[in-house]
Amino acid sequence: MKILIVEDEPAMVELLRYNLESEGFDVASAPDGEEGMLAIEEQSPDLVLLDWMLPKVSGIELCRRLRRNQKFKALPVIMITARGEETDRVRGLDVGADDYVSKPFSPAELMARIRAVLRRGNPDIGSDVLTISDVNMDLVGYKVTRGSRAVHLGPTEFKLLRFFMERPGRVLSREQLLDGVWGQNVYVEDRTVDVHIRRLRKVLNETGEPDLIRTVRAVGYCFEKPSN
Ligand code: CA
Repeated sequence: MKILIVEDEPAMVELLRYNLESEGFDVASAPDGEEGMLAIEEQSPDLVLLDWMLPKVSGIELCRRLRRNQKFKALPVIMITARGEETDRVRGLDVGADDYVSKPFSPAELMARIRAVLRRGNPDIGSDVLTISDVNMDLVGYKVTRGSRAVHLGPTEFKLLRFFMERPGRVLSREQLLDGVWGQNVYVEDRTVDVHIRRLRKVLNETGEPDLIRTVRAVGYCFEKPSN
């Protein structure tokens, strides 16, 4: 899971980075709202820690922009602020932040909130079994079923399916899938993703089940329950 910190105080970034990395998260950071938006587009984080007072584009404005954006409207956002007033809290949640912490906060409190927000997007996060629609993934036993049927996946398709199922309903770019499944330092062509998606679809839908992988033109793919 990758977390993006958008914060202009270097000491705060370092503190957050240290705590997040020791909890096993990948961390990226941006020093202002403009860079923050670019980092979100380029790196597609799983959650954004967003400071309220930022140079160029404020945290509130950035959050508002994300919520208006088809691709990022479901991206989890936790606002961080020095103010603790209830009206600010309401305003933060009003523009679509998922949660809110006031400085000073304890790292333990922030971690608990991050986990809670991530779990809201996917209640299975941190558990050994992922379930979406009729697809079940046993991460420990390395078994996948669709309905009552066993699905046999190669290692790459297994990782790909896991990456999707941990992020249900989110539009994932080919680049994000490459980074998440193949790793950031591996050179793989974009169309390799398409090849593996095709294989994954083939085995998942082998007996005519509805396709859970939606192709989002010019963007990437989204794994979700069929909408009917
Ligand atoms: Ca600030």
